[in-house]
Amino acid sequence: MCFYNQKKFACGDWAWGNFAAKCNHEYRMGETCGMKLVNNTEHLQTQCKLCEKIGIKYRRRQAEMERLTRWRREGSVMIASMERSQTIIKDLEQEIKQLEYERQMKQLNIGNK
Ligand SMILES: [Zn+2]
Repeated sequence: MCFYNQKKFACGDWAWGNFAAKCNHEYRMGETCGMKLVNNTEHLQTQCKLCEKIGIKYRRRQAEMERLTRWRREGSVMIASMERSQTIIKDLEQEIKQLEYERQMKQLNIGNK
């Protein structure tokens, strides 16, 4: 067993940080055994990279939706722009879904170690 520092993000996700200390067993083997124990938890005010990415996409989708709503309310005739906007929203939703899935997989993987 080896001790690692742990980074805990504002979003609740966490990641392994730097290697902190070897256990006695490891001193003899001269390498890490792969079993990780938490040495120290560093609490960060920021979100993890994945959640940051998700957040950016959410905001972009929100802005795009507001634009589309405004065009509709104003009875806009910019059909091409509105259609493009709808495509952007759909694409962003797809990307968000993918990122959320990645986040779940990451949580599962980390939890099993
Ligand atoms: Zn996160």
